[in-house]
Amino acid sequence: MDYLPVFLRLDARPVVVVGGGRVALRKAASLRKAGAHVSVVAPRLHPELEQQAARGELTHIAAGFSPAQLAHAVAVVAATDDRALNAAVAAAARERGVPVNVVDDAELSTFIFPAIIDRSPIVVAVSSAGHSPVLARRVREQIEALLPERLGALARFMGARRRAIQGAFAPRARRAFWERVACGPVATHVLAGDEPRADRALARELLTSRLTAPQTAGGEALGEVYLIGAGPGDPDLLTLRALQLLQRADVILYDRLVSEAVLERARRDAERICVGKAYGEHGQQQHIHELLVRLAGEGKRIARLKGGDPLVFGRGGEEIEVLAAHGIPYTVVPGITAALGAAAAAELPLTHRRLASSVTFVNGHAGDSALPDWRFFANPRHTVAVYMGVAQLPGIVARLRAAGASPGHPVAIIERATLPGQRILRGTLTDITALAAAQQVEPPALLIMGDVAAFTPAETATDAAAITAPAAAAGAPA
Ligand code: SAH
Repeated sequence: MDYLPVFLRLDARPVVVVGGGRVALRKAASLRKAGAHVSVVAPRLHPELEQQAARGELTHIAAGFSPAQLAHAVAVVAATDDRALNAAVAAAARERGVPVNVVDDAELSTFIFPAIIDRSPIVVAVSSAGHSPVLARRVREQIEALLPERLGALARFMGARRRAIQGAFAPRARRAFWERVACGPVATHVLAGDEPRADRALARELLTSRLTAPQTAGGEALGEVYLIGAGPGDPDLLTLRALQLLQRADVILYDRLVSEAVLERARRDAERICVGKAYGEHGQQQHIHELLVRLAGEGKRIARLKGGDPLVFGRGGEEIEVLAAHGIPYTVVPGITAALGAAAAAELPLTHRRLASSVTFVNGHAGDSALPDWRFFANPRHTVAVYMGVAQLPGIVARLRAAGASPGHPVAIIERATLPGQRILRGTLTDITALAAAQQVEPPALLIMGDVAAFTPAETATDAAAITAPAAAAGAPA
């Protein structure tokens, strides 16, 4: 280890920045964020630094550098583009025993600025010891994605309740308790921005701990369920929260539609259970409910991973009902539903000022008694995205024609949207059935019906060109 990472308390302590340019501005900003009292030594200041000085947020010493300026400094940063001057600052600082950082010069520095992930009060600092700041920043980006936005809120939440809970357990049990809080339902709710619910979960956690193992182990953990949308298949389309919870889950219950590539993003040692069903086999859904209740009862953290969005044709609503009825803590994480994934993959707008101003997601599976009035769908300026419709294609076409749709009503089929082997077919009500049969289209595939299904950017070239014409742009409504 070339450097010892430490966190320096700077509140209202004097720090000197030598240099008044853009780099000095950045360094002064970091130092001020940590509460330092910054003095900037430079004949001239960057306009923003000038404003900050005018507002009294920092002190401007409008002079050349002299060692006497370091008299009370607890640290100094040399941020000029003059190497000799930077070296002089470093030498003066060393002589006085003041820690010094010379920007982009690890040799002359006695301390360096790490790349920072700020979830205050949680702060992660990454350093390459000056070898490759670019690499350190990349590492920071990767960690950034793993750390929930509200991690700081969680730290504050726990901090604020520490004292009250202190006396409830013996030391070892206390630690076990806080560990469960940090990775159980309490944390899940705080991280999702719902502190009242987190407090209720905390109360429950306390009660369970006391009931099950009074002063020793701190009790059994409470299980919980993350109802996660896995998106249409491409793992890069997972949300950050989905990834964070997938890293936490002990067990993963996944549907057939969830791609292997998505599963790869889960914790390596998590148990995986495929509960895939071919479009709603009755017994299977019941089995899933029982499994959720049983595993949560064992204190497991369960990721219930569903294709697309869990609340769009995913029976997520039924699972929520079961979890609520059993008092099992849960959280819902949205995913990109197939219609949105398919539209993006095929570059078809679902709404478009000229082509369509409404869109409906429909279950195309036969036997659905709740289908709406198809006369509305026959209007080509209304977009219809049909899920589970491939096998029923002839029936859907006939129904739309019977409802008054024209033979030329555009239809697109997006098969395996965002997955390897994705295919896009375009046609009309007249030829789409034959086309799909000839191409042997198979599930999962999504139908998009309406004028948007015939969309190609070339057709709108005149419209796009109009954007550059000032007269047309001025008159166009937003
Ligand atoms: N909850 C899911 C939908 C489940 S129903 C969601 O929000 O997307 C299953 C249907 O979704 C499939 O029959 C198909 O119509 C559609 N679907 C799911 N993934 C798809 C994909 N990658 N490409 C095309 N259609 C898909």
